[in-house]
Amino acid sequence: MSSSHYPEALARLIQELTRLPGIGPKTAQRLAFFVLRMEERDVMSLAGALADAKRKIGRCSVCFNLAESQPCRICRDPGRDQTTLCVVEEANDLIAMEKTRNYSGLYHVLEGALSPLEGVGPEALRIPELLKRLKSSSFREVILATNPTVEGEATAMYLARLLKPLGLKVTRIARGIPVGGDLEYADEVTLSRALEGRREV
Ligand SMILES: [Zn+2]
Repeated sequence: MSSSHYPEALARLIQELTRLPGIGPKTAQRLAFFVLRMEERDVMSLAGALADAKRKIGRCSVCFNLAESQPCRICRDPGRDQTTLCVVEEANDLIAMEKTRNYSGLYHVLEGALSPLEGVGPEALRIPELLKRLKSSSFREVILATNPTVEGEATAMYLARLLKPLGLKVTRIARGIPVGGDLEYADEVTLSRALEGRREV
């Protein structure tokens, strides 16, 4: 499919859409044609939402969750259990945990997992910030809720070794989640059970 068949602005739209994950050339073409059929005000609203989300949403300076304010809504909430910290890889894992409605503590988003093969070491993650946070706060338990993948397990083991000397209870969520799976895709019941069945490591 050569882009030269399209008017220039349409070719550009298709090209931009192709940058999105899971969008191949055919889907991009279908979406682009759909946009052309949309009402102009709806297209403006979509464009505005894209720009707005990018401009307004950053990372919480405390937990590195996605946030529209500093600190984020969860870090600001005095009703949350200030003694329990759940460590997750990404903000979408945090959202999955929140959906279980079974966890009321605070979070720390690592922004990834250790992956020696891809050159992701501890310094590339929010691990120094985690240590600093644990040393200056009243946490008693740290729940390691990284994904049950090779990288997630390696990250959990690394953190367990690092955090044990701090005198904290360090737990790992149970394996209700299929190995190689992703917290984001676990159903809420499975994730709730994994949280309830966590074990000290
Ligand atoms: Zn936060």
